Amino acid sequence: MLGWGQPAHTARFVNAARAQQLDTLGIQRIGDLLYHVPYRYLDLTSTAQLGLLKTGDATVVGTVYEVTRRTTHSRGRSTGRRQLTITEVTLTDGTGTLIGVWFNQPWVARSYRKGQTLAFSGEVKLRNGLKQIIQPFVEKIADAADEEGAEQAEECDQHSYDASSNRSTANMGRILPVHSTTEGLSVGWLRRIIAAAIDDYAAVSEYLPTSLLRKRNLPPYNWALQQVHFPLQMADADRARERLAYGELFDLQLLIARKRYHLTRNCTGHAHQCFGKLHQALTACLPFDLTDDQDVAVSQILDDMASPHPMQRLLLGDVGTGKTVVAAYGLAVAADSGTQAAMMAPTEVLAQQYAHKLGPLFDQIGLRWALLSGSTPADARAQLLDDLRSGQIQVLFGTHALLEDDVVFAQMSLAIVDEQHRFGVQQRRALHHKGGSADVLVMSATPIPRTLTLTAFGDLAASYLYTRPVAGAGVTTQKVSFKKIADAYDAVHAAVKKGQQAYIVCALVDESSKIEAQSAVQMMHQLAAGEFSDYRVQVLTGRMRSAEKAAIMDDFRAGKIDILVSTTVIEVGVDVHNATVMLVLDADRYGLAQLHQLRGRVGRGHVAGEVWLVSDSFARLAQERFAALLSTDDGFHLAELDLKLRGAGELLGNRQSGLANFKVADLATDSDLLDAARADALALIDADPDLAADELALLRTRIIALEDKLGDWKAAG
Ligand code: ADP
Ligand code: MG
Repeated sequence: MLGWGQPAHTARFVNAARAQQLDTLGIQRIGDLLYHVPYRYLDLTSTAQLGLLKTGDATVVGTVYEVTRRTTHSRGRSTGRRQLTITEVTLTDGTGTLIGVWFNQPWVARSYRKGQTLAFSGEVKLRNGLKQIIQPFVEKIADAADEEGAEQAEECDQHSYDASSNRSTANMGRILPVHSTTEGLSVGWLRRIIAAAIDDYAAVSEYLPTSLLRKRNLPPYNWALQQVHFPLQMADADRARERLAYGELFDLQLLIARKRYHLTRNCTGHAHQCFGKLHQALTACLPFDLTDDQDVAVSQILDDMASPHPMQRLLLGDVGTGKTVVAAYGLAVAADSGTQAAMMAPTEVLAQQYAHKLGPLFDQIGLRWALLSGSTPADARAQLLDDLRSGQIQVLFGTHALLEDDVVFAQMSLAIVDEQHRFGVQQRRALHHKGGSADVLVMSATPIPRTLTLTAFGDLAASYLYTRPVAGAGVTTQKVSFKKIADAYDAVHAAVKKGQQAYIVCALVDESSKIEAQSAVQMMHQLAAGEFSDYRVQVLTGRMRSAEKAAIMDDFRAGKIDILVSTTVIEVGVDVHNATVMLVLDADRYGLAQLHQLRGRVGRGHVAGEVWLVSDSFARLAQERFAALLSTDDGFHLAELDLKLRGAGELLGNRQSGLANFKVADLATDSDLLDAARADALALIDADPDLAADELALLRTRIIALEDKLGDWKAAG
């Protein structure tokens, strides 16, 4: 990859200004430039004549005959009089005409001129006997006098490059790549920069072993780099993209496989004693049988714990799927083995909840446990630390206070970390090391799509809890506009009249915003004085002091409040079975996962819940989110949809997205490719953990360089 690490400004046609523009596209180095793959292509190899054009998807080329713009007034039913600007660009090619139509984008009229040669791509429809494409994708093929082309030719004369080749009929009969670009950098210029970079830097050696290329029928690396940008036929573009995507996925899976090898098979941890007295006692005193999912998860965890290699496992399940009791088995097994276990929660409330849920159970079976948090008094803390050091305490619950240096275990062999998302990888490791090479179990209530689990959390094996042991009556979800909010209010009236309770959730743009908290208060007064003046209405916002919040929640739980008007503070931890109706106002402002969490607050008991999403938004993403929510109640399925809608980076937040940040591969659509890459990487590391074989020399160099780059990642071993 000679020269790939050089800064992008060293590429041909890239001056300081363009380097800036490239930077905003995430292109800092030559290598980034080569991996900036097109998001679509314009296939000019087989453009139809306009006269013969049929309806449906098409790409055509013609000369601009006229550009018109007109303004009309339409009367929308809800919006009143509304101005509509219609811009039309008519193309001809001697055989017929085609009209490109734009609504409310008046600047389009300024972008095109009579005489220009343009390519239009989109869905051809017939309207009043005329062929048209609404909002076509447009590429300028040539200008009337080729003014712009001449200008550009001059600009890059110094590079002695044939600039006319882009903005000319030379593009006819080719497949043109369209790369995403930015303000000030035209598609044509970016295309030219990338073409030059490919000439200069894409002649690289193959690093994948021939056996793999053959097995997966993948084309050579240098061919793929070239063809993904400038394919001779569309099928080549697909093959090239697949090769590059596979390469990215394989790199990461190889890193993961090597790390797992060093963390587990090549590392000695604690081999636990799995079916001891406490384990049996726990089963005997549980008031219920485990669900099938719980059964499987427990045996997976116990298998890992019994093995002499350290466990690195993720336990995934929605709120209420019964993760706690699964964790309890791990804790009991550690105690049975004569060692200690730690269970760490992200907040004090959650740590206390564990102590509440499991403490009595452990007392019953004679397992010695304690709770350590930031608010543990100093003398109690000192005693606790003594008991921990002497091995008296078998299970310690707590917050990140567990990570402090003076918290020393006699021998800790199991670390359970709750809510991976909030802790991050560092804390997981810190606990692992506190116990020498302790077994690690990470629990999360945030459903994560499988493809993300295999990449961002790929160093962890995963267990899933899909079903809730206590199902509840469930929820129905519907979406209404503000005009129809009376329907939603009626649902609240009906519920409260039956003695049930309701939530009204107000949108919140920014958690710390005073204005939003006030808007919830305003909404409360408005509703309390008007629509719901007969009921007891109370407001709850994130800005209230915790004691105040706790008091209101207690009142709500006790049925002293009929309607709780709230910001999203109710998202976590609230479990009031008598609450059956929820209104979410301005529902478009929330993410999919958040809406799903919110609606999980109702319908937990015997009465079915009703959720009303109220929104006037026509934004495509909001519409898709609503459709997804109405279509399924399955958190994992929604997580998959969310991944499609938002992409891995946003879903994971910055902290963990680094590893899933692929330039070509797409976790929402490449799951087959991911499975292939994963299987290949595991098999390779199984056979040759050090990648010592001759044919792996280039691959070894590449992977070691990647490991060095991700220094922290490697150090985790
Ligand atoms: P999570 O931690 O996954 O949110 P919990 O562990 O708190 O869920 O379990 C939710 C509720 O379900 C608890 O009241 C728990 O006692 C109960 N529960 C757990 N497993 C079972 C089961 N197999 N059968 C019946 N109830 C169960
Ligand atoms: Mg083990």
